[in-house]
Amino acid sequence: MQTLSERDVLVNWHPYTQMHTAAPPIGITHGKGSLLFSEDGRTFIDAVSSWWVTIHGHAHPHIAQKVSEQLRTLEHVIFAGFTHAPAVELSERLLKLLPDNQARVFFSDNGSTAVEVAIKMCLQYWFDRDLPRTKIIAFKDSYHGDTFGAMSVSERSAFTRPFHQYLFDVEFIDVPVPGQEENTVEQLKAALAKGDIAAFIFEPLVLGTAGMVMYAPEVLDQLIALCQQHQVFTIADEVMTGFGRTGKRFACDYLRQEPDLMCFSKGLTGGTMAMGVTTCTQALYNSFLSEDKAKTFFHGHSYTANPIACSAAVASLDLVEQDAFLADLERISASHQAFAETLKDQPGIKEVRQTGTILAIEFATGTTSYFNNLRDQLYNLAIYEGVLLRPLGNIVYVLPPYCITQEELAKVYAVLEKMCQLVLNSFSA
Ligand SMILES: *Cc1c(COP(=O)(O)O)cnc(C)c1O
Repeated sequence: MQTLSERDVLVNWHPYTQMHTAAPPIGITHGKGSLLFSEDGRTFIDAVSSWWVTIHGHAHPHIAQKVSEQLRTLEHVIFAGFTHAPAVELSERLLKLLPDNQARVFFSDNGSTAVEVAIKMCLQYWFDRDLPRTKIIAFKDSYHGDTFGAMSVSERSAFTRPFHQYLFDVEFIDVPVPGQEENTVEQLKAALAKGDIAAFIFEPLVLGTAGMVMYAPEVLDQLIALCQQHQVFTIADEVMTGFGRTGKRFACDYLRQEPDLMCFSKGLTGGTMAMGVTTCTQALYNSFLSEDKAKTFFHGHSYTANPIACSAAVASLDLVEQDAFLADLERISASHQAFAETLKDQPGIKEVRQTGTILAIEFATGTTSYFNNLRDQLYNLAIYEGVLLRPLGNIVYVLPPYCITQEELAKVYAVLEKMCQLVLNSFSA
């Protein structure tokens, strides 16, 4: 009989994968907690939460229970003109956890669409007022998704090159990494002075796809305050940072300022279902209220607020709201910190970065590139050792499910040490 892997290569086309040279995919039969089990009998620690989504671990019994109950109650209903309990409950409870100014929830399908919705809300706000505020400000190395609007506000890179002529113009400013804060503040001031800015979108505290690039909450507070002085909307893209990733429930919990809009997906459903939400202030919501039908927000997806996805998100919130959730974040943060300490001043390492449950090691290999050949060697080493780690070029990071045990973390760190050794050896070779 053919394996899943053998059948797959005949029919599927995988994301971010050069199918010509990629190894056949590993067939996964089931998951439990931090672990994935393959059809050929291997076990992997999922140290990247399956692309940053699986925050409570795989096949979580509480989420499974709630979702299966919902499946037998109401699998879907149109969300225009109708509503249902999982959507109402999710919005009520999510808003309670968010900054006080967040008052309305708009549902979509994933992180990219959550970003599209936020951008469209801001652009339409200014359009409806007949004011020429048409530009968005974003960080140079940012990543906000793969649809055209989300790509437009993301870094121009090899990933986006075939589409550059179709992407709208964006004012890019540098990420305010330590030491660069003043520079970024000045760039933002210059961009705002032009008077045509509709919104500023940012990944708060950690730019994920850029390679877990980190910056301080204080400078972000400054940037948000500046935007507010110019009536420019601020959009916090918490698609990756949301639901505990940075050590608090939300990255924005580190701030004194409050963004006008927030985007969520990834951990929203505990990694169970695809769903995105965009939240906004009452003021922005109110500004769309009109006798004029043209001022409606004309956006929606067939599966908007799907009850199954909402029930997964509500079940995930049951866990997120618990003290045990925060305790796990603290435990993982402390572990990461202690391990990072051991890597200090080690040759071959350019920088070790850590925010909450995210740990990143940047190797001193010259180029930071997804196409870096070292990247594949590091990936293969980890897979061989039974750990799923997906380096971004010369940067390897750990972004685990919060249920990961100390023993499992120790194994992940041991693999990271082997990676450091591999890099050192490749230098001396
Ligand atoms: C992953 C990601 C997105 C896109 O989310 P998808 O669900 O993959 O479309 C947007 N913003 C950030 C910060 C992300 O990490």
